[in-house]
Amino acid sequence: MDRIEKICIEKGLRMTEPRRIIARVLSTSDDHPDAEELHRRANALDASISLATVYRTVKLFEDYDIIERHDFRDGRARYEEAPTEHHDHLIDVRSGDVVEFHSEEIERLQEEIARKLGYKLVDHRLELYGVPIDSKD
Ligand SMILES: [Zn+2]
Repeated sequence: MDRIEKICIEKGLRMTEPRRIIARVLSTSDDHPDAEELHRRANALDASISLATVYRTVKLFEDYDIIERHDFRDGRARYEEAPTEHHDHLIDVRSGDVVEFHSEEIERLQEEIARKLGYKLVDHRLELYGVPIDSKD
């Protein structure tokens, strides 16, 4: 059994075959796929899974905090397994590739800024958008 399926069961979700397959695809994808890409990958395992089923299932998993949805400004929601260790994202605006990173320095700085503004930081999202340094134009 894969990680996401296990979490679903722990959270009391009834695991239908399509849910099981979509959970497996999400568990094995580390590239933050969108619903259409998930649909392609799920279809390779079970051709009967529709795009509507993928949309419904990711919404359900998201509601149960099993996966995280990201909007990286290209108009398509992208998904990843809810991370156990916090990380931030750098998005290659040319290819759409997503690079994960973690910076203690940034984490500390954010807490400091919040504190100076009179807040205790409870969460944040940080997205960097870039192009590869050696690419033309
Ligand atoms: Zn990520």
